[in-house]
Amino acid sequence: MAKVVETTLRGPEAYGLARRVLDEMEAAGVWPTPVNFELWLHHLGEPEGALGQEIRRILAAGEPFTEAVSDMLAAEYLPRGRLSEEIRDAGRVLDRELTSVATAIARAHKNQSEYGQVLAGAATDMAGAAASPEGLRTVVDGLTVATRKVQKQNADLEKRLDASTREVARLREHLEQVRRDAMTDALTNLANRKAFDEHLDACVEAAHRDGRDLVLAVVDIDHFKRFNDTWGHQTGDQVIRYVASVLGRLARTPRMAARYGGEEFAVIFPNEDSAAVEAALEDARTEIASRSLRRRSTDDELGAVTISAGHARLARGETPAALLGRADEALYASKHAGRNRVTCAEAARKAAA
Ligand code: GH3
Ligand code: MG
Ligand code: MG
Repeated sequence: MAKVVETTLRGPEAYGLARRVLDEMEAAGVWPTPVNFELWLHHLGEPEGALGQEIRRILAAGEPFTEAVSDMLAAEYLPRGRLSEEIRDAGRVLDRELTSVATAIARAHKNQSEYGQVLAGAATDMAGAAASPEGLRTVVDGLTVATRKVQKQNADLEKRLDASTREVARLREHLEQVRRDAMTDALTNLANRKAFDEHLDACVEAAHRDGRDLVLAVVDIDHFKRFNDTWGHQTGDQVIRYVASVLGRLARTPRMAARYGGEEFAVIFPNEDSAAVEAALEDARTEIASRSLRRRSTDDELGAVTISAGHARLARGETPAALLGRADEALYASKHAGRNRVTCAEAARKAAA
């Protein structure tokens, strides 16, 4: 993950900085959208950072700085400020609803005790006015008014509670969406690295506890840099999405696929042995290699894209990081042996021994 630059925009010098950012964007022919502005601000704050390098690469290659490119860069390099803002907003709404419900309950409590006093008063009045029909009528009239008032107050309270319940339910749904977004890779809709790392930890722990199999695979697109250089970043993104869709289809629950980095993916296979995983990865590899891709915008024939993969089976007492390291080594063995292939870490080790 790229290092995030802390840039504050305050005070008179802020205008100078903002103007400089806009000038640079104009010179680069980039639209001054809020996202682009934020990207440029970070880029100028740390030109040698990962974001700066990527922006320079895109500009040098003459690739258009489209909305998709900005979104991808923002998702990858910008701090999740918007996310924490949403969570803060949700906290504020929740606070408001809780206060309103607490006030309504306190008011209901007070109303009920007032009504109790009216009833007790009426009982005394009735005893005193028992002989006189006029007196009784006054007591009953008083009771009717008090009862109506309490009924209305109860109806109001119910409405208030209903509104709060709906608001809190809406909020819960929104937060669920925010949580999903935070765990999802924006380009491919697969799980992102954070979601993957958490899930891998849980799967490794469960496999050790239950003594079950667990296989981890890492997948990398072959010669992708060359592909990007030839066809451009946007077409490259299209290919990443395509590979992600094949892996997503392969990784139905309880398997799990994630975009682990730029053009790298990882797949967890709980309760499966290496042979089953090898077969699944081979299917994905041949499917991808046999399909000739076309560029959507121009219908250019892009030829076939290939992937390399490595997989490793969780060993007794092994940590998630060590497992990932062995799967990575197997991936590099695939690259080394000529790419477009799948390597099993255990089989490679046995062959080398
Ligand atoms: P190898 O077969 O050894 O994997 O070669 P490679 O060129 O795929 O490997 P390398 O890691 O050198 O290059 C990966 C390239 O992927 C570099 C970068 O330009 C590109 N890339 C990384 N993330 C993205 C992305 O989100 N979109 C696009 N279009 N390209 C990306
Ligand atoms: Mg690659
Ligand atoms: Mg790579």
